[in-house]
Amino acid sequence: MNDFQGRVFLISGGARGLGEAQARRLAASGARVVIGDVLVAEGRRLAAELGDNCSFQPLEVGDPAQWQAAVALACSQGALYGLVNNAGIFEPEPLMRTTVENFERQVRVNQLGTMLGMQAVVPALERTGQGSIVNISSTAGLRAAPGAFAYSATKWAVRGMTKAAAIDLAPRHIRVNSIHPGPIDTEMMRGRSADETRSRTERIPMKRYGTADEIAGLVMYLLADDSRYMTGAELTMDGGLSL
Ligand code: NAD
Repeated sequence: MNDFQGRVFLISGGARGLGEAQARRLAASGARVVIGDVLVAEGRRLAAELGDNCSFQPLEVGDPAQWQAAVALACSQGALYGLVNNAGIFEPEPLMRTTVENFERQVRVNQLGTMLGMQAVVPALERTGQGSIVNISSTAGLRAAPGAFAYSATKWAVRGMTKAAAIDLAPRHIRVNSIHPGPIDTEMMRGRSADETRSRTERIPMKRYGTADEIAGLVMYLLADDSRYMTGAELTMDGGLSL
């Protein structure tokens, strides 16, 4: 029996990339996983592959009603123990090229989506008697990311909201922590040219991008009871990039 057996966890943006790796790890540990995503075909395919321990719910994280539906599905599977606010979009533009639309899109998904996710799961976690919320920020939430003004702003916001929520939710036995990945090899980074990827890799002390599974390992630690005294923490996994 481990910390995950029979417990229910919800992952936003779980159809691919980092969220998919988290879903795979949780399902393999005996947890019941609900993945929510706007990528319906990919999400359904992954849930079918992972079998009875995994279900899919269409979820647009900027819409409170869709969060309610995702939480209802999660609660129908058993007691909810955690949420990973993982959904995110990366539309890099420097300050002077950032349009209102670009800014609002990233705020809506990365920042508002994270707040709505936390609000949606709190009543269910309180019924369980404990809970862990993991918010996926970025090294762009620790120091400015070149040429990604709005993305950096939202990832700093995720880091701040994590600490504010950690204080608010501690009396309810709910922990909230943030993870700050460096460049990880997922679809999100595949828009970069080969030259850009090479020069960015050169700047990483460990000289490589991370993998989605490496970040999933850290998520598992924060969801598990081993981290039960940790809240409001910011954990970096970036091959030394932000040193
Ligand atoms: P990805 O693009 O492969 O996956 C993101 C997932 O979020 C996709 O499945 C996408 O459909 C989903 N999503 C996007 N908008 C959504 C919305 N409005 N509602 C619901 N789901 C939505 O990227 P990834 O690399 O797996 O990113 C996961 C998280 O990690 C993001 O928050 C990202 O900002 C963060 N992150 C990624 C990196 C990296 O280098 N890949 C680095 C630091 C932080």
